[in-house]
This record gives sequence, structure tokens and C-alpha cells, in this order.
Amino acid sequence: MNYIFYPIDRYLSSNVTYFTFEMTQQCNFRCGYCCYSGHYRGMRTHSEKDMSRNTLIGAINYVKKHAKEQSQVFLSFFGGEALLRKNEIDYTLRNLKNYFGNNIIFDLSTNGSLLSDDNVDWICSYDNLNISVSIDGCKEVHDKNRKFANGQNTYELVYENLLRFKQQRPKEYDERVKLLLTIGSLKDIELIGNSFPTFEPIIGNNKIFISHIIPNIEKKLYYRDSYEDKLLFCDTAIAHYNEGRRDIYTILLEELLDKTKYKGIIEKQKKIPLGTCLNDMYSTFISSDGLLYACEKFGVNQSIGDIWHGIDIKLAKKLSIKYSLRKSIICGDCPVIEYCNRCISDLKMTIGEMRFICQDMKENIKLSLYCKSRIISKQ
Ligand code: SF4
Ligand code: SF4
Repeated sequence: MNYIFYPIDRYLSSNVTYFTFEMTQQCNFRCGYCCYSGHYRGMRTHSEKDMSRNTLIGAINYVKKHAKEQSQVFLSFFGGEALLRKNEIDYTLRNLKNYFGNNIIFDLSTNGSLLSDDNVDWICSYDNLNISVSIDGCKEVHDKNRKFANGQNTYELVYENLLRFKQQRPKEYDERVKLLLTIGSLKDIELIGNSFPTFEPIIGNNKIFISHIIPNIEKKLYYRDSYEDKLLFCDTAIAHYNEGRRDIYTILLEELLDKTKYKGIIEKQKKIPLGTCLNDMYSTFISSDGLLYACEKFGVNQSIGDIWHGIDIKLAKKLSIKYSLRKSIICGDCPVIEYCNRCISDLKMTIGEMRFICQDMKENIKLSLYCKSRIISKQ
């Protein structure tokens, strides 16, 4: 059946519980795969721009106005390197904590280079501030991409900062620190796997999150493994899983299994109403100049309003119509449509680029089902 998609004509922003503030576009790192490196279509580049105090006050008021009825609100501080704006973050924390009390939880994204003892004390002085730190598993993999702006390696500094944090504040570390690993290929997994014992001392109680380098199609940097290599990886990961090990293989396997955790419902009709995160928004990204996006994955030209005037329905509608047409062209006969979690932020790519990304999505869903069936057959 070839499906045709049409947009759901409903744009509600009253249920937003998750907000992200882009505190700055500055960063002291220049990671090779950074989506702000200027190599990714539709994304901004690094710049000196900070969120001004005026815009920050507008963003704080926007959160108060839109989330006043919510029982739990989340606010994430994002960059660039968010810790470069510690004073402004502190101002926001005090202001919103006063307003929401214990009903607000904060998260700060950082590259880990500025986690000095002073900054750790400051983080721990707020009982509802968590941090997400990017570190790519081992020196060899991390230092390939994650460099200071002057080209120097960063792994040792980030690792030592985390280790000191864990040793000095073990309780807070375990409760509040999330590690984010970005990997380019399965060869990285092998390297991380080999040096996992050196990585273990900085793992806390939180789940480790793994993300994959986004292919930079314009520059022909694909970061892609062959299907045969992926299959080999799955077999190794399943063996580790069956032995009850917790390592980088099983962490990645869990992530792969999650890809087929929820199956969407595709009705037996040809015309499908297409729901996106613009219909019932649960999250909002506020850029350093006060523009509104559904999340940080959206391209610079996909803003749907600003903090002073709210959501512009016409802009949201325009994106939804464009995405329905796009889905009708490329997804109508896709075999994995019920599992696919690609989203409207893909509109920043061309159709050709999207088709390229889809190949990976199709393979990964096939592999997820393969792993699931192997695990179930063992039980
Ligand atoms: S630390 Fe983050 S924002 Fe900075 S260059 Fe690296 S990926 Fe980009
Ligand atoms: S994999 Fe691609 S073609 Fe298939 S449903 Fe997802 S976005 Fe559409």
C-alpha cells in the first residue's frame, strides 16, 4: 500500500513541560562532528553570540507563562558550551526555582572542560541541577574529534575533571551526572570496549547515552559501517548480553533493541493523518536570540515564532504541510514505517540526503528485530 500523508491541523503549545535555553553560541571546543561546525546543512555555525540578559528575562517569562499549570517542568541549559555563561545560568536557576519550587528540574549540557572544583561546588549547591557531559569512551576515539579550538586534545582534562568530581562528591555524581558518548563507527566500539576498564571509574548510576555522528553528506563523511560488520557486532553484543556483562557492547545493544520497542499504528487506509511534535508540543528550544523551535535539532530556518509573540501558527502549518508532502514522496511504501522515529526536523535536509539517512534507519530496525528474535529464542 502506498500511503499519502496529510497534516493534522492542530497546534497547541500549552502542554510544554520541557524547555531548552541556548545560553551561548560560543564554545571552547571545535569537535570534528559538531553540528555547528558549518558543515551541516541548515544548522548555525559557532559564533560569539550569547543570550542577552533581556532575551533571558523574556525566555524565563515565557517558561513561567506556558508552564504555570504543569506539575513538573524541565529546563535544559545548552550551548555551545553552556558553562561559559555560569552567571546567567545562576540567575535563571534562582529565578525559576523561586517560582516553581521543587516542581522544576534543571539540566546543564557541558563538554566537561570547565568542571573545576568551584564549578562542581556551585552545581552541587542546587539540589535539582543535573549535568550531561560529553566524553567519547576512550582517549583514542575522543581525541579524534573532540579538540580545543586551538587543536589540542581534551580527553585527559575531561576525564580528570569527572574523576575528581566522582571522588569528591560521590553521591551527587552518581545521582546527577549523565555521560554522553558519540561514536562514528563500530571500530570505535571495539576501541572503547578494549579500554572499558579505564572508563569504568567515571561511570555513575545514570544510564550512559550513545549517539551516532550525523553523516555530513555534503563533505562525503558518511560514518557508515557495512551491514555485514553490523551483523557481526550484533552477534558479539548478544554473546556479551547472554553472559550478563555490562559494557559498551550491551549498552549499544539495548539502544538498538529500543528502536523496535514501540510500534506505531498504521491504519489500513491510504490517507494517514500525520502527527508531529508541532501538533501537541511538549518541548521548546529557545535560541540565543529568542526564537522558538520544537527542539535543538531544527534548522535555523525552521523557527515557529519567538518568545515575545509566541507560536506563529502560519509558520508551524507551513512546516507541517511541507513535511506531509515529503513523507508522501519518500515514506509511502517504506517497510519500516511503523517503527521509524525520523522526524520533522529532517526537513533541513534535501530529499536525497534524507533517503541516504533512511538506509541506515531501515538496516537498524532490521537488526533490532534480528537481535530481539535471537534473545527471545534463547529464553
Ligand atoms: S563541545 Fe559541543 S558545541 Fe562545542 S564544538 Fe563540541 S560538539 Fe560542538
Ligand atoms: S526510514 Fe525513511 S522512508 Fe522509511 S519511514 Fe522512516 S523516514 Fe520514511
